[in-house]
Amino acid sequence: MDESYDVVVIGAGFGGPVAARKCALAGLKTLLLERSARPGEKVISGLTIPFYGFLFGPDFIRDGNPPIERPVDGIVNYIVKDIERGDIEVDDSLRIPRPLSPVLAFGYNAYCRPFCQWEADRAVEAGVELRTSVTVTELYREDSRVAGVITEDGKVIKARAVIDAEGSQALLAVKAGVRKKYPPDVISLADVYDYRMDKDRVDRILGFSNRFVWAWDEQRLAPPLGFGNGLMVWPYRESIHFMQDQCLKMERGGKAPNLARLFREYHRNITSKLPWWRDEIAPHAELRAHMWDSFEIYVGLDGELRKMPMCANGLLIIGDAAGLESTELCDGVPAAWFSAELAAETAIEAIFGGDVSERKLRKYQMRVESHPLIRWSISGTNRYDLRYAQKSHDIRLLRKCVHNGWGVGAFTHASTPLLLTALRAIQENPMVITSWLRMFPRYFRNWLFESFDPLSDDRPEVFRCDAYKAPKSTPGESTAAGGVPEHSSVVTEALAGPGTGGSAGVETLGTEEPSSVVATPGDPLKEARESRSFSSNEVINDAPLRGWETQTGSQISGGTLLRMAQKGLACLDGLVFMLGPALSGTAKLMEPLARLANPVATAALPVVEVILKGWRRMEPLLEPITERITRLLVESR
Ligand SMILES: Cc1cc2nc3c(=O)[nH]c(=O)nc-3n(C[C@H](O)[C@H](O)[C@H](O)COP(=O)(O)OP(=O)(O)OC[C@H]3O[C@@H](n4cnc5c(N)ncnc54)[C@H](O)[C@@H]3O)c2cc1C
Repeated sequence: MDESYDVVVIGAGFGGPVAARKCALAGLKTLLLERSARPGEKVISGLTIPFYGFLFGPDFIRDGNPPIERPVDGIVNYIVKDIERGDIEVDDSLRIPRPLSPVLAFGYNAYCRPFCQWEADRAVEAGVELRTSVTVTELYREDSRVAGVITEDGKVIKARAVIDAEGSQALLAVKAGVRKKYPPDVISLADVYDYRMDKDRVDRILGFSNRFVWAWDEQRLAPPLGFGNGLMVWPYRESIHFMQDQCLKMERGGKAPNLARLFREYHRNITSKLPWWRDEIAPHAELRAHMWDSFEIYVGLDGELRKMPMCANGLLIIGDAAGLESTELCDGVPAAWFSAELAAETAIEAIFGGDVSERKLRKYQMRVESHPLIRWSISGTNRYDLRYAQKSHDIRLLRKCVHNGWGVGAFTHASTPLLLTALRAIQENPMVITSWLRMFPRYFRNWLFESFDPLSDDRPEVFRCDAYKAPKSTPGESTAAGGVPEHSSVVTEALAGPGTGGSAGVETLGTEEPSSVVATPGDPLKEARESRSFSSNEVINDAPLRGWETQTGSQISGGTLLRMAQKGLACLDGLVFMLGPALSGTAKLMEPLARLANPVATAALPVVEVILKGWRRMEPLLEPITERITRLLVESR
């Protein structure tokens, strides 16, 4: 007999569990299906999730303690004008200075598998039924309505609504005729290397900043073909990622470029020629995995593709599957979270209203299209434009694109959507203000002590190293939806080279456990984590804390200050509660003003840059304050 649910969600990546959880909390019988053995396994191993995803995304993530690897306080951009002569410009204007950083962060680096597992666990707690190792091969239709899914064993699982969170390229939706296959130009292929590196060194060398590299084509450092190439280095807790990505733009004559060869060449060059990599990282980093995956990136810039439906009768499509990956930062997690919530809300209304027709569900697409942050993130053109700058050696344009994309110039186009979203969140629930204030210090302590909420198997440390034990993908394995190839002809051709077999894969280069898993005797932070009770002074005195060595000369008693801060927050809670309707009303009134935020940021940019530069110069002098903040947070455990 066919099984039947209110909602079936396809895919337990970043978006799926969020949508499933919301539906289950509304009392709907919800099934979450994932083709991998564990949630998050398909997604490329690690990423940076920007702060706005956490602030304006699902409350259970903002108010919870997901597994994060490292706070990110900004981006250091290297514009390489001449690698042989060492002529390199640096733009690190987008970095939160100390003592605000790293407690305040622009985002958090995370590995996908523990993070998605954590999300899926929260969904299961809310009543969702999770089934892993189940591949949906087709959407099941009754008349013209999507009425469930068909799994690889031919089983039909019926549903009143299906939420498709299958990720990049939306193969099921393409197969069902709801969306069209993307052209290669909007698909980027990412080549990712994961290096194990001693935590102290990551702290000291990379600290809390991601590093991006931009170069002229002929230097063969940043991939040369297609539009909007990138080269990025992300620090994690005890490892770093090196990622280069390249659009699958065809060469003249419709031939796919041999990206495998090019990627190898660029990786070799950057690791041997870029001074900070060659001198500081190469001698100490041990390569442990090499992965590749493709993602859609410029869907939002193409009028036709952008208009593709995100819903049909009985079907809602979210996240990457709906083409919502950001054109500039390639950050798709916030949009996956936002769209998951909007889809769940629409599905709940439709199911309780007894009408899941496309007409009713179109409300979801309208909500997505009017979401200020989603709209902004899928329409940024800096990344696309900087290809022209690189091709034409236009240093002014390159600087401008880098500054506006990954420098403080980003606020000239991000301020309005950020402010608008914040105002809307306050209108909906003013208490979100104190939830924002609590999130940053909680996440920072989470990072300090690895004190995230337990994962379902209660062995959190296994997850990080386990991410590299996935079997090497074999041809066909990475195709989904009943064998429909994931642009495989293009990707496989592009990757024609040893060790390539599909559009996504993991090459495990070492099976040894990373040192992080083994507690080092006498490591006070490790012991503190394990015993969960310790003297904060001991920890502070003995442990080198993430890039800034603590100076222990001054003994402070943070307890009193901390208690005061906690009382202050409690009072603020009360105040916000009392003023709730007024705050909500004011936020609504301020909406038109939010539109001025971008022009104001543009006008104020020169002044802001001078202030930031001055502040950075003073950072060493502010070190004692930074230290005290850390102490307070340590003591608050
Ligand atoms: C190399 C790379 C780097 C990235 N860097 C960043 C970054 O720094 N910051 C950021 O925010 N985003 C980044 N992204 C994008 C981010 O990973 C995606 O936007 C995000 O994962 C989208 O979430 P989703 O839920 O829509 O899809 P996914 O997270 O991809 O989840 C889809 C899930 O569906 C499952 N699935 C697929 N087909 C089926 C099927 N037929 N049956 C059952 N299950 C199925 C998959 O196994 C997977 O678990 C990056 C992506 C890549 C590839």
